[in-house]
Amino acid sequence: METGLEPGERARTWHSLTPDGVVGLLGSDSLRGLSPSDASRRIDEFGPNQLFEPERWTRVRRVGRQFGDVLIWLLLVAAFASGFLIGAWVDAFAILAIVFLNAALGYVQETRADTALDSLKSLGAPRARLIRAGRAMEVDAEEVVPGDILVLSMGDRISADARVIEAAHLEMAEASLTGESLPVEKLTVPCEPEAVVGDRASMVFAGTTVARGRGRAIVVATGMNTEIGAIAASLSPTSPPSPLQRELARIGRRLAMVAVAAGVVVFGAGYAQDYPLETMALTGVALAVAAIPEGLPAVVTVTLAAGLRRMAQRHAIVRRLPAVEALGAVDVICTDKTGTLTRAELSVSVVRIAGSPNDLTVRDGGEAVTRLLSTSALCNDARLTGEAATGSPTEVALLRAALDAGIDVAELTARSPRLDEVAFDSSRKRMSTLNDGPAGMGLHMKGAPEVVLSHSSHAATEDGEILLTEALRRGFLADAERMARGGLRTLAVAAKSLEEVPVSLESEEAGLTYLGLVGLRDKIRSEVPEAVASAREAGVRTVMVTGDHQITAAAIADAAGLDDGQVMHGSELTKLGVPELTEVIGEHRAFARVDPIDKVKIVEAWRSSGATVAMTGDGVNDAPALRAADIGVSMGSGTDVAREASALVLTDDNYATIVHAIDEGRRVFHNIRNVVHYLLSANASEVIYVVVGFLFFGFLGEPLLAVQLLWINLLSDALPALALGLDSPAGDLMHGRPKSGRDILSPRNLSMLVAQGAVLAGAAVVTLLTGYYLLDLPFEEVRTMVFTTMVVSQLIHAVNVRVDGNMRLSPPDRLLVGAILSSLALQVLIVYTGAGHTLFSTVSLSSRGIATVLVASAMSMVAIRGFKVWTAGR
Ligand code: ATP
Repeated sequence: METGLEPGERARTWHSLTPDGVVGLLGSDSLRGLSPSDASRRIDEFGPNQLFEPERWTRVRRVGRQFGDVLIWLLLVAAFASGFLIGAWVDAFAILAIVFLNAALGYVQETRADTALDSLKSLGAPRARLIRAGRAMEVDAEEVVPGDILVLSMGDRISADARVIEAAHLEMAEASLTGESLPVEKLTVPCEPEAVVGDRASMVFAGTTVARGRGRAIVVATGMNTEIGAIAASLSPTSPPSPLQRELARIGRRLAMVAVAAGVVVFGAGYAQDYPLETMALTGVALAVAAIPEGLPAVVTVTLAAGLRRMAQRHAIVRRLPAVEALGAVDVICTDKTGTLTRAELSVSVVRIAGSPNDLTVRDGGEAVTRLLSTSALCNDARLTGEAATGSPTEVALLRAALDAGIDVAELTARSPRLDEVAFDSSRKRMSTLNDGPAGMGLHMKGAPEVVLSHSSHAATEDGEILLTEALRRGFLADAERMARGGLRTLAVAAKSLEEVPVSLESEEAGLTYLGLVGLRDKIRSEVPEAVASAREAGVRTVMVTGDHQITAAAIADAAGLDDGQVMHGSELTKLGVPELTEVIGEHRAFARVDPIDKVKIVEAWRSSGATVAMTGDGVNDAPALRAADIGVSMGSGTDVAREASALVLTDDNYATIVHAIDEGRRVFHNIRNVVHYLLSANASEVIYVVVGFLFFGFLGEPLLAVQLLWINLLSDALPALALGLDSPAGDLMHGRPKSGRDILSPRNLSMLVAQGAVLAGAAVVTLLTGYYLLDLPFEEVRTMVFTTMVVSQLIHAVNVRVDGNMRLSPPDRLLVGAILSSLALQVLIVYTGAGHTLFSTVSLSSRGIATVLVASAMSMVAIRGFKVWTAGR
């Protein structure tokens, strides 16, 4: 089919054409949409529906970043200066090689981090619902092409610019595009050709969301041709650094100062002892380079990204990196009920006709049951096609019940076309439709029993319509409560006749005739009680927040195994202010009949009681609470608006997945802590040894050469740090209290790191003294021993940092063992080969030398363990 559209075209005045005109021009079909072959041809023609990211320069810039540090240049200058001045060319080239190795390492680590993040981005890719070949389907937003017919419902984020061809109270939130904060109504009638974007009521735009109502629209522009494409730069997908990353950057800056100061001290101490200027300049700069853990940010990102990937495999998609840290610290999970704690496979279990003394089943039939179920089938947005169903589980269950009762739903809906509707939302707790039918026009309502009853004035009983007295109303509410006690979700159904189409359907929602109740059963997900218990053991409390009835909520809370406590009703919640709520919040296990707007209060009250809160939600009006929570958790099946407001998306909607994500979050946290502790204490040991060495033992000879120092630094930064970041601690991290990101670099921890560095440096000093004074070995060999002790003790230290305060050591990870063995092998090459001797000025070690290295390293290990036991008890 021909399209009247040129690739790259944006400025056509689609908004001023009629819907049929647009459909015709784009060679589409407003009912059937495009055919799959047409769609794939158009993807070739117009390209994928995405905004280009200026990626081309990333690699070049990444290489540049590796050489962006002034210290690195100083190091190279110093190395080559000493080459020129004293002919130390081998040194100069060895240092050059190390600098390049370091840069390569940095490049690889950063690439890994970026690739991991990219793959996550595509995991959370937005989807679009559309019609192709007459069938409703969901595709990746990237696959949307001009001519596609989009299906719009409340909460959807639009992925392309489109011309509205059907609108039922359709309102769009366009703030992201036009800055207009109130929702704008959309209609099918053409606008003036000169209307500006904000006034184009016949168009919906990429990046905006459906605030209310529903409709259909035909895509006219995708990707960079959309209005938002024109301002693409404002949609930067990069996430801001996490609190921990910021903290690391701060510590990094301080370390840089310490490093330069240490370099200056060493330079001064050596120079005063008549070491050549070039040698000391080189050593001073090398020390400064060694002291700064350049690799740390990249290793932290790789660790976070690896954690994110593992979470994604377990159905939890983290949308913002910092969330991983907050996840490990969560102590309260406020969770939805339907679909999250339960399976959302609802089925109608009982019906109760107004005025009947007994509960009935769907199959009992009868005129009254048929009327009740027909009404709830008309006031319904779900669709059934054979076994497959679309729509909310509650509505699907109602349609299935109607079919079971022998009602021909397809014929019923065809005979009674919908003229108007007021959609269901969790605040209104009811839905109404206006249908025209053979028996006249009627308003049909279904919703929470107390809400429907408050809009009813009569009840349909076997004896005909009677006035709804207060006593009757109380009786019907008592029926609903009895159903709820068994854990059923309850809905009431009502109807009334209308003579003509009202101006506003909402104002007609009064004086209805109450028809009866429906009780729907939903099963608890089998994994939930265990997950609730495991969260409890991890110090994480689970609280249910539901729109459902108070009594249903209590029954489900029991079945899920939540802590004992009270169930607060939404009306009470509305009355309380955050300070009053904070006082009592701990006594509540659940909140029922909650208006989504009040969820924010629950979050705030928990937060002001000092908790780190995860809150779930899926609707448009859940978004404020999702944003207010430390971790907003949305459902994969929820609205795009909720997804965008949240940090974590559960692709399986399952509560247990939140608990898994917390588990993974703690693991990531644990690994980052280990990497940070390892790198900082290893670097501290290098600084302490070289400073102490030059100050006190400089008269013996250069305590460590610049190349050796750089090599130690490279070895520890590379494999062991990465292995620690990707470690899988065997211990169960779901015991014990949640931890906060700030702990990692607390002043106490920092002083412990320096102390551990001092112990490692001590091992090097012991080696130096033993080799020189006790064993009386030549200084070249003594220095090689010191060099090797530093390498070996740091490698052992990598195992040591994994020991927790209780002295539990999870069996070393294969990755870590591999990292240690390969690092050791490299060191052996350096000490025992001719090339190693030339490049690093080493000599082969004698057995006495090796014994000293091993004993000193082992001593440092024992001392650090002892130190940990000692400090753990304090
Ligand atoms: P949960 O915590 O179980 O997920 P929720 O917070 O999503 O529940 P809502 O979906 O807001 O709860 O439902 C609140 C009440 O509104 C229900 O108890 C039910 O009586 C009624 N209700 C639910 N779905 C519909 C619907 N599609 N049409 C009319 N009324 C509905």
